[in-house]
Amino acid sequence: MAQARTDIGPPLYKDMLPPIIKENYGKWRYHEILKPGVLVHVSETGAKLYTVRAGSPRLISIYFIREICDLADKYCDGYLRFTSRNNIEFLLSDESKIDPLIEDLKALGIPVGGTGNSITNIVHTQGWVHCHTPATDASGIVKAVMDELFEYFTTMKLPAKLRIALACCLNMCGAVHCSDIAILGIHRTVPKIDHENLHKLCEIPTLTASCPTAAIRPNPKLKSIEIKAERCMYCGNCYTMCPSVHIIDPKNDAVSIWVGGKISNSRIGPRFSRLAIPFLPNNPPRWPEVVDAVKKLVEVWAANAQPGERMAEWIDRISWEKFFEITGLPFTDKHIDDFTLAQTTFRCTTQFKW
Ligand code: SF4
Ligand code: SF4
Repeated sequence: MAQARTDIGPPLYKDMLPPIIKENYGKWRYHEILKPGVLVHVSETGAKLYTVRAGSPRLISIYFIREICDLADKYCDGYLRFTSRNNIEFLLSDESKIDPLIEDLKALGIPVGGTGNSITNIVHTQGWVHCHTPATDASGIVKAVMDELFEYFTTMKLPAKLRIALACCLNMCGAVHCSDIAILGIHRTVPKIDHENLHKLCEIPTLTASCPTAAIRPNPKLKSIEIKAERCMYCGNCYTMCPSVHIIDPKNDAVSIWVGGKISNSRIGPRFSRLAIPFLPNNPPRWPEVVDAVKKLVEVWAANAQPGERMAEWIDRISWEKFFEITGLPFTDKHIDDFTLAQTTFRCTTQFKW
């Protein structure tokens, strides 16, 4: 009797490992960066695995995928991988193939870099291309920002690594909550309710339950709902459930910038990003205000951080207050997350740590 196939998920990753990784599984001793974009992992058996890291435009066509697969076939028996920040990594066991591969990548206009003290590819969410709740675009802003910061991808001249992420709403399906610099689209107005159509399109109990702050309650008279404005955090979850609760507001939707997040445990523990700039206009197609703000943050950090000091560590050393002074950013009421004793001082808030 034929067996029913129950495993319909992705194939087991071990089935797709290059032979050199399978053979040396659990035996890798250390790795080094040979030059920007090129790493070597050395096994206790003496085996060496070379990785060439290249940037991808993140939203890619099948033609692009075919091109990089052809290169993988030519140089590394078809093995390549994508990193969580959308870099492409070619995995080679033959050192002599590194430079010809880099030449072929250059010929296709694909940059090599993103290792060590660099700005690696920016991880981002779906934006206007796909998702329905974005307060801003994702790939559009990232393209504009990365065009300006491109030299930091192909070199390793920064004090430490710098991770940038973008999420186009505060549901943050990107890594915005813990990146050195985070670009976050924000809605700023309470959703508008289309009472006439709501009961035809949406289930009121599901819609009510979708709100994480319990701002929504049924309005039986209108066969609709009402939203308690002071409880709403403009997350758009209700709009995900019901197209008659409109969160998109082109005049008020905006972009905010957060800093000092990290996920690694090296030197200091993981950190959430903190609000640095509460509002920048949503200004497509090139978002000049956002690009300028991110570039300035990178440059101020690079000029003032000590070698090896990531954004969070630099801010810890100089203090949150000094961060605003050095960057010239205004400290506003939006930066305060605890108003206890706010009449006398703001230094008692969790944002000021000393
Ligand atoms: Fe959608 Fe929000 Fe994710 Fe952007 S961050 S893709 S709007 S859920
Ligand atoms: Fe609730 Fe979020 Fe909708 Fe506001 S936007 S009503 S917080 S689900």
